[in-house]
Amino acid sequence: MENKNRTKQQSRQREVVIIGAGLTGLTTAFYACQKGKDIEVLESQDRAGGQIRSFHEHGFTFESGPNTGVISHPEVAELFEALKDECTLETALESAKKRLIWKGKRFHALPSGLMSALFTPLFSWPDKFRILGEPFRAKGKDPNESVGALARRRLGKSFLNYAVDPFLSGVYAGNPLTLVTRYALPKLYRLEQEHGSFIKGAIAKAKEPKSERDRLATKQVFSVKGGLEELIKGLCHRIGDERITLNASSVRVTPLEEGFQVTYTNREGEEEQICCQKVVTTIRAYALPTLLPFVAPEEMNLISNLTYAPVVQIAVGVRSTDGIEYNAFGGLIPSCEHKQALGILFPSACFSDRAPKDGALHACFLGGVRRPELVEQSDETLSKLMRHNLTELLHYPEQKEPDLIRIFRHEKAIPQYEMGSGERLEAIERIQQSYPGLILAGNIRDGIGMADRIKQGTHIGLEL
Ligand SMILES: Cc1cc2nc3c(=O)[nH]c(=O)nc-3n(C[C@H](O)[C@H](O)[C@H](O)COP(=O)(O)OP(=O)(O)OC[C@H]3O[C@@H](n4cnc5c(N)ncnc54)[C@H](O)[C@@H]3O)c2cc1C
Repeated sequence: MENKNRTKQQSRQREVVIIGAGLTGLTTAFYACQKGKDIEVLESQDRAGGQIRSFHEHGFTFESGPNTGVISHPEVAELFEALKDECTLETALESAKKRLIWKGKRFHALPSGLMSALFTPLFSWPDKFRILGEPFRAKGKDPNESVGALARRRLGKSFLNYAVDPFLSGVYAGNPLTLVTRYALPKLYRLEQEHGSFIKGAIAKAKEPKSERDRLATKQVFSVKGGLEELIKGLCHRIGDERITLNASSVRVTPLEEGFQVTYTNREGEEEQICCQKVVTTIRAYALPTLLPFVAPEEMNLISNLTYAPVVQIAVGVRSTDGIEYNAFGGLIPSCEHKQALGILFPSACFSDRAPKDGALHACFLGGVRRPELVEQSDETLSKLMRHNLTELLHYPEQKEPDLIRIFRHEKAIPQYEMGSGERLEAIERIQQSYPGLILAGNIRDGIGMADRIKQGTHIGLEL
């Protein structure tokens, strides 16, 4: 991927430099290239993809970071359409639609209809009846209300504990009582603020006329044939290896009278400079002070104090399931159940070729803001824990030995959009206005999921 053809020069010109070759940076670069911009992506690692990485071992295909996304924005479908010669979008099988929630001693299906909602043991009877009053409940006045407080107020404690809490564990590895609804779940916030109720809002939304483009956004869960990294490879191929510089360390931006100078140390240890009109950063908040040393510390602190939940992901493969079948997307574990795991996904039930025939691939998540110490546990402890999970959560026989266990630690996995998010967004805006041409992107704003990253990258790339 490294530029082999570029003649060696210490200083060069580009229209745009994009910092970070994760999904955001590569999507931005792809669309900027489509518009004929002269761009270059600088990546500190020896590979592109950032948090997205797929592995193939002994007939199993597994991920170290995200496993699935949702086609929640038209930009996702449009990107896959644009890359259809490079990689193949794979949507989760209908048979694996079920979502499971742990309560007591086993998983229960999350209700999908009125009858199942009425008889599910997940929610209390008073809360089930209370739901009928949801459309008539007053809307919240606190713009910084947490998701937990909002859910308890509108839906009741059992919905908070057995729907909202596990959902936020699955998405944010976070705590519903500290995530601020307006930033963490903006669609939900708007439903209440604009329509006065979730139920009324959902009905109004369903009735809204939808353009052909709007209809591209669905609730479908996606991956890519062969693993999510195929999307990264496709993007890199279309951007062109000569525009992606790997192993670029000590990257720094300096504003010039017109434009910017970006300096970095190449893999040979030499300093190189790029002069450009625009810079797009897609790296995480805590790395920004070093990258942009000219921003006043008190302003930068409002961004770099963003906290990230630590996550351990354990990929577990079995060549035979011993007849145990989980035709579901996965199971989530509410924090009030006091288990070690946040949840477990069943990628082989959703997508093709993730495990040998008769086998299964599971992806278990641990840690999060509530159990950060688990990221520091040894491989031995985590493997033991995983074996215990196989028996307790999935009911494999106690003596069952997995054929594959791979542990991935992410000390700073998922940004937490908590109190302070408003100040962070305002600081980003002020910095961008003070330095025209500097764009602060990535998951410090606009959402944490892959779909959000694609949407943001698309818009920035097309507007450069
Ligand atoms: C364990 C885990 C599970 C997840 N699960 C899901 C999921 O199920 N669904 C979903 O939609 N999303 C999920 N996500 C989130 C998803 O992975 C991210 O939204 C997405 O991959 C982020 O892409 P990005 O480009 O914004 O950031 P990154 O992938 O972090 O890319 C940033 C890039 O910048 C590089 N970089 C950093 N500092 C510098 C520097 N100073 N100079 C140059 N380069 C630098 C990094 O090496 C990296 O390549 C998960 C994330 C994790 C960690």
